[in-house]
Formats: sequence, C-alpha cells, structure tokens
Amino acid sequence: MAEIVHPTIKDPLLVDQPPDGWFREISDMWPGQAMTLKVNQVLHHEKSKYQDVLVFESSDYGTVLVLDNVIQCTERDEFSYQEMITHLAMNSHPNPKKVLVIGGGDGGVLREVVKHDTVEEAILCDIDEAVIRVSKKYLPGMAVGYQHPNVKTHVGDGFKFLADKKNEFDVIITDSSDPEGPAESLFQKPYFELLHNALKEDGVITTQAENQWLHLSLITDLKKACKEVFPVVEYAYTTIPTYPSGQIGFMVCCKDATRDVRKPLRSWSDEEEEKLCRYYNKKIHEASFVLPNFARVALR
Ligand code: SAM
Repeated sequence: MAEIVHPTIKDPLLVDQPPDGWFREISDMWPGQAMTLKVNQVLHHEKSKYQDVLVFESSDYGTVLVLDNVIQCTERDEFSYQEMITHLAMNSHPNPKKVLVIGGGDGGVLREVVKHDTVEEAILCDIDEAVIRVSKKYLPGMAVGYQHPNVKTHVGDGFKFLADKKNEFDVIITDSSDPEGPAESLFQKPYFELLHNALKEDGVITTQAENQWLHLSLITDLKKACKEVFPVVEYAYTTIPTYPSGQIGFMVCCKDATRDVRKPLRSWSDEEEEKLCRYYNKKIHEASFVLPNFARVALR
C-alpha cells in the first residue's frame, strides 16, 4: 500500500500547525477537542490590524476562512449559520426595512438579509477591512451580499458604531467572532444596551451565541445580561459540521414584550423557502428554539 503523503503546508505564517497538510482548530475555548480539515492549498495569509487572517482550500469543505486559528465559515456548510442567524430575526419582525449587521465581514449574512423584499437599507459594520477584502476575493458565494444596491459597508468597531445610534434599525444582527479577540465587547451587557437604544420600538436582534455543549455557562450569563435589557430573550441553535461540536446558537431578543420570536411572524411559501434557503424554513424556525433538558434547565 503506497504511503499516503499529505501535501505539507509550506506557509511559514501558518502557526501551530504541523506540516502534515491538515488544519487543526485548537483553542482553549473548546479544550481537548479540535475540528481538523484537510488542506489542499493555502490561498491567503496575513496579519491584519486585528487578527490573523487565513484562507485555505480544503479537500472537502470548499474554501475556508479562519481568523486567529478559529474557523469562521466554509463554503460547504456556511448557509446553515448565515440563514438561521438572519431569518430567525427577519421573520420575527413585521416589516424589516432598515437592517444592521455587526461583524459578518464574509458577506454571508448580508446575502441573506437582502432576500427580504422589505429591506430598503442594509448596513454592515465590520472592524477589519482585511476580512471584507479577502472575502470578496476568495468567498464570492458569500461576498455576493455586498453587491446589492441597498447595501452600505462601514469599517469600524461595532461597539463604537452603535454609540450614537438611536431608534434607527428594525433588525440588528451581530455576526461576530468569539469573545476572545476584537469581539469580546460584543458579548457584554453594555453592548446589548447599545443594541436596545439603536433599535426602533418593535426591533429584533440576533447574536452569535456559542454552543450549548461547550459554553453553557457563557450562554447562561449572556441570556441573563440580555434579559436585563430586553423583555423577550430566547436561545435557538443550528447544526453546522465545522463549528465546534457541530452546532452554534443564537440569542434572539425583541423590544416588544408581546412578540413570540419562537414562531415566525412572516414566512415564505414552501416553494419560495426551497428556492431561497438551503437550511431555514418555517418549521425549523420553531424547532430551533426547542432545547435538550440540560440546556433548557440551565437557561430557564
Ligand atoms: N460566522 C462566524 C462565527 O459564528 O464565528 C463569524 C464570521 S464573521 C467573519 C466575524 C466577524 O466579526 C469578523 O469579520 C471580525 O472582523 C468581526 N468583528 C470582530 N469584532 C468586531 C467588532 N468589535 N466590531 C465589528 N466587527 C467585529
């Protein structure tokens, strides 16, 4: 049996990776485990002002974006996350016209936002121009979101961007990286207060809210902080192979105390759903809020 020789990754900038042709997502945010993806070739690697930005072509998950050694999105399964974090919010709002995305530099959430005919203006605010630039070059299927005429892009810290926004947005989606690094402030109560102020009266937010298998105490704290700001706070999750433990969650909050975000207020027909989405549908909207006992009890 001929020895299988893995292409060694020749990129000297590729930290913490033995030259055996595999990328390991090793992090203290998920101790003792690591998603590993086979690398065909490294397409881009730079140290931006905020983070290490890596793009590689994987053998089986398409092109992969990695920030500070953490997988952000892969072409094969990104739609699960982008659709759910977007449509859980958008379909929980009666008529979302003005939408803000904090983070989301790959463009995937923007691509989903503009699927809603109600949208008159969608603004994306990402702290790192490198992610936007690199995504436009290497992730065209996600960066297509930037091409829509109603989209505007702002490069800056989401926390600072929101500081002077009041009663302006119908929906705000925080598609941030994890709390270690530039996104740390986006997981704390002062940020949720900024979101609350920036929303119109019946506004809805979603945030990237980590994984119930790995981060239950962080999610519990996150929900507690959100409940001190919003009358409606619910946790939902989706399945996605390349995120740690194959899942990621969302905090879904609303300023309107009478809104039940667990049921879609608006929905597409079944045919439209299948045309527009590869993961989200009206039934999975409801199902995504149904939690296993260990998480339901912790988040009660
Ligand atoms: N879907 C991915 C996930 O769940 O981890 C996130 C993808 S997106 C690439 C994450 C983005 O958040 C990055 O482009 C990063 O630059 C941006 N980001 C991190 N901290 C930020 C901040 N304080 N303000 C705005 N954008 C921020």
